[in-house]
Amino acid sequence: MKRFLLSILALSLIFLATGCGKEKEIKNQLEQIIERDYIVVAVKADSKPFGFINKKTGANEGFDIDIAKEIAIDIFGNERKIKFVPVTTGEKIEAITSGKVDIAVATFTITPQRQYLIDFSNPYYIAGQSAVVKKNSNIHHFTDLKNKTTVVVLGSTSEQNLRRILPMARLSGYKNYEEAFAAFKEGQADAISTDNTILSGFLIDNKNYRMLKNKISQEPYAVGMKRNENDESLKKSVNMTINRIQRDGTLIKLRKKWKVN
Ligand code: GLU
Repeated sequence: MKRFLLSILALSLIFLATGCGKEKEIKNQLEQIIERDYIVVAVKADSKPFGFINKKTGANEGFDIDIAKEIAIDIFGNERKIKFVPVTTGEKIEAITSGKVDIAVATFTITPQRQYLIDFSNPYYIAGQSAVVKKNSNIHHFTDLKNKTTVVVLGSTSEQNLRRILPMARLSGYKNYEEAFAAFKEGQADAISTDNTILSGFLIDNKNYRMLKNKISQEPYAVGMKRNENDESLKKSVNMTINRIQRDGTLIKLRKKWKVN
């Protein structure tokens, strides 16, 4: 009997020492990303200078892309450990909720409605909604858009704001900014309305247009991710990066680099 008890004791010691008795450790979101060895980031490919494709190299570039690289530097010590997934305005939320991407750094405005569906980091930039018209247009204020046609991108805050603020405005919706700007340039509408950031990018290459002086909203940009109250490891890491780039001057440098005021 004694020998039997001793062997049981010996077996359980071996069991404990080899860790076989341990419950399998569940890795948090951040640990899973570290184990995978890259982070999957939704970015814009049609929103110069925040997210666009360098036509010569085919690389994703822009202010948001550089923010994503800073996040990767803090997680991996290497800005290249990112898989970029291009998304349009209307695809951002689904890319996150479906688990297709870990985060979205994509001219993404925090709104209470979106916060029902996903979570956001702290904001890293405040944009505002404006509109662009032809230089010689007689449109000067948003109220002048009342009985005019305005191009918007479907699913954007700009579309929602205009529907609420100017219900009389006729909206012509497109699924991405390439198509939206093309339609506007072809003369299919009197104006195009979105964030001043994206409109400024358009004006760099298109000199015959101007932006209205007033803005009708504040658009705080933040990093979007899955809502998970029990595991905020990824959110904490992203917020740490945003705090760091605010403190160490990186954010100011990036604003200069991309001529973002
Ligand atoms: N910031 C706005 C939004 O999140 C417009 C930018 C965009 O279309 O991606 O809806």
